[in-house]
Amino acid sequence: MIRDYLNEESEKNIIERFNSIDFHCIFCNNPDPLEKTNVHCEQERLNFHPPGQDMSPYNDLRTSLRVTTFLICPQCKNKFFVNILDQGKII
Ligand SMILES: [Zn+2]
Repeated sequence: MIRDYLNEESEKNIIERFNSIDFHCIFCNNPDPLEKTNVHCEQERLNFHPPGQDMSPYNDLRTSLRVTTFLICPQCKNKFFVNILDQGKII
């Protein structure tokens, strides 16, 4: 689990870096990268708080982060789903 959770700007930077990754079709020899649609960044969180106290963003723990997208090959028209899951650092 990760103590901090990402702010809006960090999520934007992650999506920008994800968009810089080129994926290629696995069904045809299209030399061009696949087209990405619906790039989405999502954090999964848990909130730990003492009994009787309200939830607080300071107690949020990020348990994972995923970036997903649909890919479409303009040449053979196959579509793919990519899911990159960050599960935190190796300790
Ligand atoms: Zn293709």
